[in-house]
Amino acid sequence: MYLVSHPDEVKVISFRFGQGAEQIDKYIELGGYEQARRAIDMGPEAIINEVKASNLRGRGGAGFPTGLKWSFVPKGMDRPKYILVNGDESEPGTCKDRPICEYDPHSIIEGTIIAGLAVGAKQGFIYMRGEYRYLLDIMDKCIADAYAKGFLGKNIFGIEGLDFDCMSHSGAGAYEVGEESALMESLEGKRGVPRIRPPFPAVVGLYGGPTVINNVETIASVPHVLRLGGAEYAKIGTDRNGGTRLFGISGHVEKPGVYELPMGYSLRKAIYEVAGGIKGGKKLKAVVPGGSSTPVLKADEIDVGMDFDQLAKAGTMLGSAGIVVLDETVSIVEFALRTIKFYQHESCGWCIPCREGTDWLKKTITRVYQGNGVSKDLDNIKYLAENMMGRTFCPLGDAAAMPTIGFITKFRDEFEAFLSENPPTPGLVLQQAPNLVQLAAH
Ligand code: SF4
Repeated sequence: MYLVSHPDEVKVISFRFGQGAEQIDKYIELGGYEQARRAIDMGPEAIINEVKASNLRGRGGAGFPTGLKWSFVPKGMDRPKYILVNGDESEPGTCKDRPICEYDPHSIIEGTIIAGLAVGAKQGFIYMRGEYRYLLDIMDKCIADAYAKGFLGKNIFGIEGLDFDCMSHSGAGAYEVGEESALMESLEGKRGVPRIRPPFPAVVGLYGGPTVINNVETIASVPHVLRLGGAEYAKIGTDRNGGTRLFGISGHVEKPGVYELPMGYSLRKAIYEVAGGIKGGKKLKAVVPGGSSTPVLKADEIDVGMDFDQLAKAGTMLGSAGIVVLDETVSIVEFALRTIKFYQHESCGWCIPCREGTDWLKKTITRVYQGNGVSKDLDNIKYLAENMMGRTFCPLGDAAAMPTIGFITKFRDEFEAFLSENPPTPGLVLQQAPNLVQLAAH
């Protein structure tokens, strides 16, 4: 599935895929570790400036400018600093970090070293999703090979006194741990629930030290930013959205796969040209553009460029760039139910709007799906989801609410059809959902 290809692709981060770059000698032959060596001579300020100039934004979903994030790490602190690579890829519909870990894992290690040089960290952690067990073996071998070559450990690249260590760590399968502060808790051996912020990780992070947390795709892009130069990298994308992205196109398309396209590439072209159009010549019904937490787009809303800003303007998000294509046969009510079931299951339960809200949404959508709903349920679904927005400790609450609001707003007629085709059981008492704001106050 991964090694697909299309002429419109701009292979920056994926140019080594399929060439055996998981072997360190091949990686070096293809220019690997040259940028980490160069970064030593550049020094912290020049590295950060180059990354800032590239307009590289966090590929985990939030899209925060990477260079700016690095610049928040205090200089000259005598506490240990850390680089934490977030490989806890768990968003349904997302499959972009996985090919990097499989086909170009050394680029993650090299990016980690460069990030360490930029902020003065001497230790990196690569946190892998628990279900990616086989990738952990690949990563561990690569780390061992990098130590053997002198790219990690003491006196890296033969430079006296320059040390950088790196190790991998496996998660245990919780979606919530993809949130950066929960990730740090998990890495410290605690239950993976978020921390209250401030303080932010750049100042007080892992083990209380300043910490840079970047997604796998972000960190693997860093050597390419230095290789091309920040300004050249920025030119590949759009204004404020530099470079390329690995778009995972799945669902009802002829050629699903992970494609590397410039930021801002047309969603319509990605579906109809790059991924070969709708499977079996059927009609497009809807698209989830950036992983399951991003609001759905209808078939007539896909003339939009795929970058953080254009998709935000269209009322949705680029997120993790996991494009899920739904054809005319898909029941949006069923799709909404499957989506909320996932978030209800993955809620860590720490805060009430998310714990109770996801549960009530699941119950209410289930009732509608089973034909026992009444029209008031549809208002309740929207009301519940809107009350979760912005009222939770971490973004999972929003991640559950946003797609639900999108489904019920844009496809209300489908939900209503479930009501009219299956009239509510006579005498059924509608169970009212509680006001989440009031609940949270108690
Ligand atoms: Fe946990 Fe959900 Fe609250 Fe996040 S929003 S802290 S997952 S209960």
